[in-house]
Amino acid sequence: MEHTSSNFIRNIIKEDLDSGKRNHVMTRFPPEPNGYLHIGHAKSIVINFDLADEFDGKTNLRFDDTNPLKEDSEYVHAIKEDVKWLGYNWDGLFFASDYFKEMYERAVLLINKGKAYVDDLSADEIREYRGTLTEPGKDSPYRSRSIEENLDLFERMRKGEFGNGEKVLRAKIDMSSPNINLRDPVIYRISHTTHHNTGNEWCIYPMYAFAHPLEDAIEGVTHSICTTEFEDQRPLYDWIIEQCETQSVPQQIEFGRLNITNTVMSKRKLKQLVDEGFVDGWDDPRMPTISGLRRRGYTPEAIRTFVRETGVSKGWGAVDSQMLDYFVREDLKLKAPRTMGILRPLKVVITNYPEGQVEMLDAEINPENPDMGTRQIPFSREIYIEQEDFMENPPKKYFRLFPGNEVRLKHAYFIKCENVVKDADGNVVEIHCTYDQETKSGSGFTGRKVKGTLHWVEATQAVPAEFNLFEPLLLSETQEEVEETTEPAEEKTFLDQVNPNSLEVLKGFVEPNMKDVSPQEKFQFFRHGYFNVDPKETTKGHPVFNLIVSLKSSFKL
Ligand code: ATP
Ligand code: MG
Ligand code: MG
Repeated sequence: MEHTSSNFIRNIIKEDLDSGKRNHVMTRFPPEPNGYLHIGHAKSIVINFDLADEFDGKTNLRFDDTNPLKEDSEYVHAIKEDVKWLGYNWDGLFFASDYFKEMYERAVLLINKGKAYVDDLSADEIREYRGTLTEPGKDSPYRSRSIEENLDLFERMRKGEFGNGEKVLRAKIDMSSPNINLRDPVIYRISHTTHHNTGNEWCIYPMYAFAHPLEDAIEGVTHSICTTEFEDQRPLYDWIIEQCETQSVPQQIEFGRLNITNTVMSKRKLKQLVDEGFVDGWDDPRMPTISGLRRRGYTPEAIRTFVRETGVSKGWGAVDSQMLDYFVREDLKLKAPRTMGILRPLKVVITNYPEGQVEMLDAEINPENPDMGTRQIPFSREIYIEQEDFMENPPKKYFRLFPGNEVRLKHAYFIKCENVVKDADGNVVEIHCTYDQETKSGSGFTGRKVKGTLHWVEATQAVPAEFNLFEPLLLSETQEEVEETTEPAEEKTFLDQVNPNSLEVLKGFVEPNMKDVSPQEKFQFFRHGYFNVDPKETTKGHPVFNLIVSLKSSFKL
C-alpha cells in the first residue's frame, strides 16, 4: 500500500519502535453501534488499518457498546459490512460489553484504593458542583463516604436496588483541577435498559471515559487513535490506566476529524435525516454514509485514496467534496465501460433513412482502455437525442443541432436538421433530419467537418431507464460538527439547511445492451458522467442509474 501523505502518528509509532518503548503495534477501530458509518469513520478506519499494516501490526474491530439506549445489532451488522467493503480485514472482533465484568472489577479496585465513591447528587447537581473554567469545583457531600460504604452501595447499584439516576460512581481525582474532566468524573451510571448484547444482565453501565481506556488495555492496544475532541480527556485516560493497574499501557493519540463541505457528519444528525424522512434510509445515495456512497457508486479505492490524501494532522478544516469526486473519476476512468444514455429525450426522425431498416454499428467500449474491446449498437430511422442538444434559435457558438445545421452522431453518421414538428402549444416535439451515408464513422470520410458531436440512442430498441441526479443534501458549506456544543436552537438550523432539490429523477433511454445490467455496475455515459446501477430501485429490464459524478470539474489536486 502507498503511504505518501504527511502523518505525524506514523512518526510517533516509528519512534516508539526505534526506542524500544514498543516491540509491536496494535490499533483498533472502535465504532459505537448507534448508527451507520460515514466517511469520517472511513478516515479513522484507513488510519488505523494502514498504520498497523505498515508496521506489521494488528487492528481490531471493537464495538464500543456501553450505551444500551442507542445501540442496536442492525448497526453492528452494517458496520461490519462497511469495513469489509472498504477493503479491510480486522484481526480480533470484540464488543466492549464483553468486558463489563472486568470493568466492574476495576471499578471495585478503584473503590478499594479510595479512588472512587458512590454519589447521590443528581446529574444537575453534579454539573453545578463541577465549577467552570474560571471557578474551581466543590466537593460533593458524599465524597467522603468510607470504602466499606462505597463497596456496599456499588454492589447494590449493580443488583438493581436503585432507580435510574439515583446514584452514580465517580472517580475521586481533584475537584479543583484546571482540567474539568478530572473533577471527579462519573464512571458508572444506573440504566435499567436491555442491552443488545448482554440483555438484562447489567443495570449499571460504565461511562465512555472509563470504559475506553480499559477496552484498549484489555486488548493490548498500543496506540489508541482518536479525534481531537478527546484531547482534554487524555489525562483522565492515563489516570484510569494507571489507577486500574492494567497490564498493558495504551497511548492515546488525537488527530483532527474529517469534515467535508456541504455535508453533515454526525451519526445523530444523519439519523435525524433518516427518521424524519428527508432521505430514503441510511443508504440513500445522497448520504455521506459508507452505504450511501456505495449505493451512489463511489468505490472503496476512491474513498481510501481520498482519505489518505487528506493527510493526518491536528487540523480540522473542511475538505472540498470535489476532491472525492476527483478520485472517483480517476478510479473509474479506465474501468468503466462507455455507453450512451438519453436523460431528457427528444425524438429525431431521419427522413432519408430506409424505413424498417436497422444496422449495427461498432462502438469502442473505452477509448482510454482499448483492451475493453467494442460493442454493437443499433441505428435506424428513429433515434433519441437530448432536448438540450437542439435549439430552434441558437445563440452564437452553439454547435449542436439547429435548423440547417449539421452535426456528427457519435459512432454513426452526420445528420442535418431540416424541419421541426411542434405541438399545439408551440413546443418542439420532434426533429426531422437527413443523414449522409458517406459520413459513416470509421469510414475515413474527410469531405467536410462539423463542430458538434452528439450522443443518441436508437428509438425502437431503446431501453427505458431512470436517472437519479443529485445535489448536495445541505445548502450551507460548513457544519458545526462537535456534538457536545450543539444546542437545540442550532439543531433547527441544521434541518433548515436541507436542500429541497437534492434529488432529480429523469426518465430516459439507454442502449439495448444495457437492459440486463447488474446492481452496482458502473458506466460512463458519454458527455454526462459516471453512473452506478442502483441496487434497490433497479428491476429486471428496467435499470435505474445514480449519477456518481459528472465528467467535468474545476477541481485540481
Ligand atoms: P459521530 O459523531 O458521527 O457519532 P463518533 O465519533 O461519535 O461519530 P464513533 O462510533 O464513536 O462515532 O466513532 C468511531 C471512531 O471513528 C472514533 O475513533 C472516532 O474518533 C472516529 N471518527 C468519527 N467521526 C470521524 C471523523 N469525522 N473524522 C475522523 N474520524 C472520525
Ligand atoms: Mg463516539
Ligand atoms: Mg457520536
